[in-house]
Amino acid sequence: MNLPYAEPYKIKMVEYIKKSTVEQRKEWIKEADYNLFNLSSDKVFIDLLTDSGTGAMSNNQWAAMMSGDESYAGSSSFLKLKEVVKKITGFSHFLPTHQGRAAENVLFSAIVKEGDIIPGNSHFDTTKGHIEFRKATAIDCTINEAFDTSVIHPFKGNVDLEKLKKVLKENSKEKIPFVILTITCNSSGGQPVSMQNVKEVSSVCKSFNIPLYFDSARFAENAYFIKKREKGYEDKTIKEIAKELFSYGDGMTMSAKKDGLVNMGGFIALNDEEVYKKATVYNIMFEGFITYGGMNGRDMAALAVGLDEATEFVYLESRIGQVSYLGEKLIELDIPVQHPIGGHAIFIDANKFVPTIPRNEYRAQALAIELYILGGIRGVEIGTVLADRDPFTRKNRYPELELVRLAIPRRTYSQNHMDYIVAVLKNIHDTRDQAKTGYRIIDEAPIMRHFTVKFEKI
Ligand SMILES: *Cc1c(COP(=O)(O)O)cnc(C)c1O
Repeated sequence: MNLPYAEPYKIKMVEYIKKSTVEQRKEWIKEADYNLFNLSSDKVFIDLLTDSGTGAMSNNQWAAMMSGDESYAGSSSFLKLKEVVKKITGFSHFLPTHQGRAAENVLFSAIVKEGDIIPGNSHFDTTKGHIEFRKATAIDCTINEAFDTSVIHPFKGNVDLEKLKKVLKENSKEKIPFVILTITCNSSGGQPVSMQNVKEVSSVCKSFNIPLYFDSARFAENAYFIKKREKGYEDKTIKEIAKELFSYGDGMTMSAKKDGLVNMGGFIALNDEEVYKKATVYNIMFEGFITYGGMNGRDMAALAVGLDEATEFVYLESRIGQVSYLGEKLIELDIPVQHPIGGHAIFIDANKFVPTIPRNEYRAQALAIELYILGGIRGVEIGTVLADRDPFTRKNRYPELELVRLAIPRRTYSQNHMDYIVAVLKNIHDTRDQAKTGYRIIDEAPIMRHFTVKFEKI
């Protein structure tokens, strides 16, 4: 018999979560205007809203916090973190920031200007936001396979080289400050990029003399997929794979709330001295002095340990193993989810799950609400509500996919919690034909409506 993976840690401290009844939750979600963002966390049993900053730190991280150095300048916690970042990424310059989007803000302030074009693989919302805020354009060059939930492809985060070359050929080099590769690709469902693709993208960038940057929030999870799926990497360590991957680029931004295993933090790491100097000015303006940039000394200390732990195979095997355990159980029950299962989340395909609910009644939102009412589980709608209205016609935009995302926090929930989620989803799936009606919007903001939108039940 093959041995299953088992969590490579034991539990020293527990945090109780509140159980509640279906009747209570029906009342609470109604009071919250059927918007899951409006629920206070004590009304949620299993919170899968995001995997960002919601993970558990280890005893070694907590211990490191106690020796955090809060000096304004030259903090030893900064120097230690810089050393770990250099060891893992190979990049020589380092600037801490308070989270990932702050790293984007600082770096892009230094190198993006109006009219620029930044090709990449399904840029993350904050990345795209910081590009568009500067009146520049993000061009998505992801492979077509990424957009079909049922197509099996080991590296759905890959860039289509022809699409990329076309953008690089058709625009002057001055307009393209860099190419950005998101590893793993969050917007396409936590799907990895292969080492082969990174190498090819890197050599295309070199031939056009354009820098390559990584949006690295889940770089360790990406390295794990390379080890498991790409020939030639079976026997390499995660740290070797990560180092090789970064060696093909010029720099990175990082949301440490993901693979940094901390609750808040981020950074920029890069090689180009000139870019570093420019970014330093913005870091001081927006974040703080260069040796803390928006982070406490103790948080930098915890991050240094977290980066080291996140790039260990035993950790990743149980982290990604847990996400895939949940996904495989759902697949066995014929519950429609995105294939293959990504690194940090399960995406339920609501178009296939509840086609009986009309699209203009927000079927993915309806499914997410049902999951909350029946199980106290909080996921998030990635569908028509999120896609917002067309800014000109004010009509709803209907994206190709109506998804409910269940993001799994790191080292937080047990396998029993996964089984509980499976059971709740099975019960909903068994009675799905009875779901005929959804929700109507009664109030919404003109932009980014999903955070504050109010619904009523039809
Ligand atoms: C989370 C995330 C960001 C933004 O980071 P924050 O820490 O939330 O500001 C950027 N890119 C990717 C791929 C992310 O997942």
